[in-house]
Amino acid sequence: MAEFSLIDLIRTRAATQARDDVVLGIGDDAALLQPPPGMQLAVAMDTLNAGVHFPAGTAAADIGWKALAVNLSDLAAMGAEPAWCTLSLSLPDGDPDWMIGFLDGFLALARAHRVALVGGDTTRGPLSVSVTVHGFVAPGRALRRDGARAGDTVWVSGALGGAAGALEQWRRGMAPGQGPGRETRIDPALRQRLDRPLPRVALGRALTGTATACIDISDGVLADLGHVCAASGIGARLDVDALPGREALRPHFDGDLLRTLQATGGDDYELCFHRACGPGRRRARGRGRGGRGGHPRGRDRRGAGRARFRCRRRALAAGAHRP
Ligand code: ADP
Ligand code: MG
Repeated sequence: MAEFSLIDLIRTRAATQARDDVVLGIGDDAALLQPPPGMQLAVAMDTLNAGVHFPAGTAAADIGWKALAVNLSDLAAMGAEPAWCTLSLSLPDGDPDWMIGFLDGFLALARAHRVALVGGDTTRGPLSVSVTVHGFVAPGRALRRDGARAGDTVWVSGALGGAAGALEQWRRGMAPGQGPGRETRIDPALRQRLDRPLPRVALGRALTGTATACIDISDGVLADLGHVCAASGIGARLDVDALPGREALRPHFDGDLLRTLQATGGDDYELCFHRACGPGRRRARGRGRGGRGGHPRGRDRRGAGRARFRCRRRALAAGAHRP
């Protein structure tokens, strides 16, 4: 299919998610968008490359879902409300069936978060998908990496290691002599974590005003917690055996591999956030809209498995970066 008919297909399908603040969407040289008065724009971009960020052979709908999900996860980590996105597609051929599948996954997640696709670019080349998302956050309310303090407690929003477990099973299935069918050797529950991450947008928004720092876990909790520590000038002690999500991995992995998957496996897209404890926490809770509604367990039943971390000045362990 030619580039123009692909764009027509995208435009027709994208029209199902209309927003009043899109003055002009797909079809002109640029989109015209009306941000709400007084709000800051939060902008994030992420790219998925075939064979690097998803196994070759991943269903088009799963690629579409994930391309948007990883971006919404970045907005979630800032506590922003998603609104608009743009999509740059590099496609090896203009296969309309692939495009329809891709849009099924992409737009299902866009609808779930009321995100409008307002433009993009379509080129020919190796399969690669870049998405930019735009969201709103009130001035001073964004969740940043540099706000954590010694003494804070560290939380994660859900199970870790599932996506990495699926990749590990996929990699093993590729061993010589095992032939086709490697996809079937992946536990479907783990595969779901890899292919259909659920960005914690509602939790991120609820945490504005209560969390002191936040990051989404895309590179593994060790690395990502390390980024927060480095930005905040603190250290953290991580109890890997207390991380949530072990049950899903235990049928397939144990010992050091299980711990490694949980601590260093990327692609889970849960949130890792800090909260002040003691008097500071009470102050934070009493302050403003995030208040009680921001308590993670109250918001998200899968949420906030409490991992027993504790921030201590200069008490670095388990891979947190030395500031
Ligand atoms: P131009 O040459 O002016 O950049 P294009 O032919 O690339 O225009 O695109 C035409 C319109 O289609 C633009 O509004 C552009 O934003 C939109 N568009 C192109 N590719 C995509 C895509 N993959 N997803 C969403 N919108 C797209
Ligand atoms: Mg163009």
